Amino acid sequence: MNDFLVFWLLFFAVGIGWFLGRRTINGSSLRSELPSQYYRGLNFLLDGRPDVAVDAFINALEVNSDTLETHIALGNLLRKRGEVDRAIRIHQNLLARPSLSQEHIHLAHLELARDYVSAGLLDRAERLLLDLVEEAPEQRLVARRHLLDVYQSERDWKQAINIAIDLIPKKSILKTTTNFKERGQSVVVVLAHYYCELALKKVASGEFSLSRELLNQAILHDKNCVRALIQLGETELMSGRPKEAIEALKQVKEYAPEFISETIIPLRDAFSQAGRRDTITNYLKECYQSHPNPTIALAIAEDLLLTEGSESARIFLSTELREHPSLNGLSKLIKLQQVDLTGKVRKNLDELLNLVDILIKQRTAYRCDHCGFSGQQLHWHCPGCKYWGTVKPLHSEEVEKIT
Ligand SMILES: [Zn+2]
Repeated sequence: MNDFLVFWLLFFAVGIGWFLGRRTINGSSLRSELPSQYYRGLNFLLDGRPDVAVDAFINALEVNSDTLETHIALGNLLRKRGEVDRAIRIHQNLLARPSLSQEHIHLAHLELARDYVSAGLLDRAERLLLDLVEEAPEQRLVARRHLLDVYQSERDWKQAINIAIDLIPKKSILKTTTNFKERGQSVVVVLAHYYCELALKKVASGEFSLSRELLNQAILHDKNCVRALIQLGETELMSGRPKEAIEALKQVKEYAPEFISETIIPLRDAFSQAGRRDTITNYLKECYQSHPNPTIALAIAEDLLLTEGSESARIFLSTELREHPSLNGLSKLIKLQQVDLTGKVRKNLDELLNLVDILIKQRTAYRCDHCGFSGQQLHWHCPGCKYWGTVKPLHSEEVEKIT
């Protein structure tokens, strides 16, 4: 057990001593029994056995309305330190006392449910939290927040959607401003991602039309949900509706231009399926003009290579790389330079290309705006801070700063 807990236990011991002293002054009938438990706890603590001291202190302190918060605080501390079994014991001990008021029983239930969530006993946590939603109006909001954690951990997106909808303040239906925050994020942001998760399941089972409905619900709740737009484009593409796919994917430019790079591949397929191969180049140029970034420049160069040849692609890329340098762009430029070369010069360029490709593999491509988590894959649910939709693509200039 670490120093922090020992320090907290000392603080806790002083608090109990004060409380017992007050009881003694008030002439409590327990004064002959309780101090011995208290001193045993202190002895255990001073002997370097804080684990046993916790139990002695708990036994020393009677459960009543005056001490309930102290018991709850110690239970919470133990849960946060990873000692979930002890936290469960403390909170179950509270519930075994018939003298507690209904409100305090609800509070102990809530804490016990949080213990179960931490211990991974999600079924038990769910039962307790659903009871609280039903029976404890004062705990309803916070119980629903914890239920979201439970359903999210179980990946039960249907239930998570139902609870998140219950958590949306009624005012927002009237289109008034809401400051409601759920774990730092607006509940509508979280809800939109739950719809996206469920839509993914439907796509996997070939239910495209249901997936489309769910994604439209996501957009309805959060029009800035770029994930829903991208998934909608991909779903339309898979269900043989390229025009609708193009329509959805093009909206990314309006709502989240930093994600344009994520739409290039499905857009190419969609334009191709729709028989509009040339139009992708015009669209990419339009994007590049308003939101220049190296990934779009590279895509334009690839198109120029197909339509106008390598010289045209090389001139475009070398000009743009001066403004927006990128490793991918450099790699492509070297490949374009290689076309007409042979012998030693070609071999030297091969070696250079290998080095650049190694650097590309090592680079950070995505980063979370909230916690700074970075990696090479796009995660809609940040593995670091568990926020939804905060991981974003990095442009090369940003990559250079953090690698
Ligand atoms: Zn994060």
